[in-house]
Amino acid sequence: MKLRKSASAAVLAVLALTVSACGGESGNAGDTPGETGGANQPKLPTYTVASDVKVDSPTLKKAQQAGKLVIGAKNDQPFLGFEDTDGKRSGFDIEIAKMVAADLGFKPSQIEFKTVDSNVRETTISKGEVQLYVGTYTINDERKKQVGFAGPYFLAGADLLIRADEKGITGPDSLKGKTVCSIKGSTPLQEIKKPKYGAKTVELSKYSECVQQLLNNEVDAVTTDDAILKGYAAQRPTKLKVVGKPFTKEPYGVGMNKDDKALRDAVNDALEAHEKNGDYKKAYDATLGLSKSAYTEPPAVERY
Ligand code: GLU
Repeated sequence: MKLRKSASAAVLAVLALTVSACGGESGNAGDTPGETGGANQPKLPTYTVASDVKVDSPTLKKAQQAGKLVIGAKNDQPFLGFEDTDGKRSGFDIEIAKMVAADLGFKPSQIEFKTVDSNVRETTISKGEVQLYVGTYTINDERKKQVGFAGPYFLAGADLLIRADEKGITGPDSLKGKTVCSIKGSTPLQEIKKPKYGAKTVELSKYSECVQQLLNNEVDAVTTDDAILKGYAAQRPTKLKVVGKPFTKEPYGVGMNKDDKALRDAVNDALEAHEKNGDYKKAYDATLGLSKSAYTEPPAVERY
């Protein structure tokens, strides 16, 4: 192992070890590797790949010519968008990406996943460096000025991750004078910076780095979507917990070129079809469901 490993790489390696120790794509890792998961784990669905797809989308045509679809994702969010040390991706967002890709005519082997963190999503999508983006991406009007969204396919809410022995933080109203870590370019960071909370912020690029700072007692809490935080808490159940009082609404969308309406419609069709045929629920149970996120019906897609 290299000595001068960056903090985020070190955190990723630890998380990856814990996940892969369980043997599953998104195993329910405990503090002790192999503690949970196993034979009764729900199985991931497989998605039928459509053939002869005709959608009048410039983005899709380019992907068809190249024989691959480039999809932006996260790599450090267990149960949502995670990449292990072998480069294997897993999680609910990865499944959403695969089901949509299948309906657009792309097999999993024809998907090229690219890690794109929150602060560079809009620029990466508008430059065409990724054709779709599936990574806990909240749909909002500000972002819609730069990118297009299909969905929503999931509704999360900003919450707080704290150390398991923390007594002083009980919700967003108890953050006066506390130091809260979050991610540049994320909506929960914008929210927590509002003067009404009175919190000091530490702003980093990767959630896994915030989690490491929390474990090191360098910050008092991490804020982002509950679905993300539950994944970290499930990885370290004796050390971390989620407060459980969501204080924003974060509807997740699939990001893409702002003007490619045909692609947006096709992705919305795909989301609806997989929600209807049961793939969505199966994928949820085999990924996010393992991190104690309770299943709720997906929100209706909003076409525009
Ligand atoms: N859903 C929030 C957002 O899109 C937070 C999670 C993230 O940074 O991806 O900003």
